[in-house]
Amino acid sequence: MTDSNVSLNTVFEKLLEFYGPQNWWPGDSPLEIMIGAVLTQNTSWKNVEKAIANLKEADLLHLGRLHETRPEELAEIIRPSGYYRLKAKRLANLIDHVMTRYDGDLKWMFSHDLATLREELLGINGIGPETADSILLYAGNLRTFVVDAYTARVLKRHGWIDWEADYHQIQDHFVSEVPAEVEHYNEFHALIVRVGNQFCSKKPKCEGCPLQCYLPESGISEPF
Ligand code: SF4
Repeated sequence: MTDSNVSLNTVFEKLLEFYGPQNWWPGDSPLEIMIGAVLTQNTSWKNVEKAIANLKEADLLHLGRLHETRPEELAEIIRPSGYYRLKAKRLANLIDHVMTRYDGDLKWMFSHDLATLREELLGINGIGPETADSILLYAGNLRTFVVDAYTARVLKRHGWIDWEADYHQIQDHFVSEVPAEVEHYNEFHALIVRVGNQFCSKKPKCEGCPLQCYLPESGISEPF
């Protein structure tokens, strides 16, 4: 069976049936999730886990102590995450914002309006839409859909969205089709990461992929 007109809700059901609930995000606290969201930029989760383990060992999963740590020292601790000097600066920028604007109170911070918070996060050097939305959804439990490279790839390869679609067009597409619930956004993004990681990498492995039955008759849609 081939079908390129499938709804995103059907895609969700298919992925959930294949993988089961993902129970994301892997992190013990909102702070750990925020840190993970920055460290995961351009690297695998395995490397992030090593960097977070180092932070735990240094007793630095604490806003106040992180704020007092020099970026150079932080960089060495998070070295396994790659781009560690840049990420240390980005983390320091984020932590500084939470400390100065919200007095280190994440509960208070996440009680604010989603649009305002999103704009604030995007104003922090090194925090782009994917990182901001990951923080808001997974650390703040706020209703925003996260779009990552896998999401774009899966949708575009199936012809469900134009190849030119940008982050917000893809996000709007999800928001217009799937139930507007935090739990649903959480689970759907996690499932897409799972299928992307296992099957839809740069070179797609469609054989055995749960979404293979939804490929267009002409095969994978590619930009050229
Ligand atoms: S690997 Fe193939 S079937 Fe699976 S999501 Fe990617 S393009 Fe679709």
